[in-house]
Amino acid sequence: MKNIKIKSKFLNPLIDTLQPYTPGQQAFQHPTCKLNTNENPWGPSPGVKKAIIDYIQDDGDNLKLYPESNSDRLRKKLATKNKIKEENVFVGNGSDEVLALSFLTFFSGRGNLCFPDVTYSFYPSLAKLFEIPCEILETSKNFKINLNDISKNTSSVIFPNPNAITGLGLKKNYIEKYLTLHPDVFFIIDEAYVDFGAETCLPLINHYKNVLIIQTFSKSRSLAGLRIGTCYGDPDLINALNATKNSFNSYPVDRIASIAAIASIDDQKWHLDHINKIIINRNYLTNKLEELGFKVLKSEGNFIFVTHKNVKAKELYDFLYENKIVVRYFSSKKIENWLRITIGTKSECDLVISNIKKKLSEI
Ligand SMILES: *Cc1c(COP(=O)(O)O)cnc(C)c1O
Repeated sequence: MKNIKIKSKFLNPLIDTLQPYTPGQQAFQHPTCKLNTNENPWGPSPGVKKAIIDYIQDDGDNLKLYPESNSDRLRKKLATKNKIKEENVFVGNGSDEVLALSFLTFFSGRGNLCFPDVTYSFYPSLAKLFEIPCEILETSKNFKINLNDISKNTSSVIFPNPNAITGLGLKKNYIEKYLTLHPDVFFIIDEAYVDFGAETCLPLINHYKNVLIIQTFSKSRSLAGLRIGTCYGDPDLINALNATKNSFNSYPVDRIASIAAIASIDDQKWHLDHINKIIINRNYLTNKLEELGFKVLKSEGNFIFVTHKNVKAKELYDFLYENKIVVRYFSSKKIENWLRITIGTKSECDLVISNIKKKLSEI
């Protein structure tokens, strides 16, 4: 991450100090096996596609109207599905937007924010934007998050569960113990990958006023292109988020996205079947790479984090890239010899395996 340098005399001085998040590459010149940004290898369910087509055909003219400001129908659906109240639910334009609104509402102006050294790199970018001082929580040599290492000076904590980049998850009981011990610390748990096998902390919102749970339709529900993020918490917290939202963008979720999200929830069987396929492929790719001498962290996400003692991660990344397979390489010190590989279809996993075998046979 670099500070941006923009040349204009009309800048807010803060803008010159920003450290914007670098999104994973999206467009490629040639057809590529795209395993770099943890998207789903399958498109959304047939029910989702049909709902969008039906909507355009039957109600397309309604696109001239603004959407529901508070996404009431989608919130109702999410509340029923999760056995909570609508007042516990907030919806935004992708969870990145929900994160931004939450940072502004609960972290900004309230002291230090703590997050792990190896984590979603959007957090430091947002902290910079909202001028929130940060504290880094060092993970162990094996990338484990130990909440007891959070310093006494911390006002707020955020981490993904399971953690982005590593795929390692924490148990609900373990997190709850910490929430109980620190009622004055505000927690956001980013559950972008929770559907792939980790334990959700959602039930905690009924008992604690110092925790928000953020989820997304981008990963397990194959809707990264429609931008739908969700958030769960005590009604007072949700009201506060609404106040921030309505001071910034009153209509964050468009009509088509709402329709598609509701249809996605209705297609529960399709959703679970496809999560299962990813878990099967994750186990398959993990086993094959371990057989080839890789160390693979035990992932609860739709990706694995791997390292090999005989080949440098960057060299392997470049080799795969030349062979039209794109994975994710992070240059920061602690993880410079690791690669993150999104779990794709079985044939995409096989393509990764055969290319890695080729590289290993050359050294
Ligand atoms: C992908 C991801 C997000 C962003 O999700 P969107 O809903 O697509 O904005 C948020 N947090 C983590 C940890 C992610 O990996």
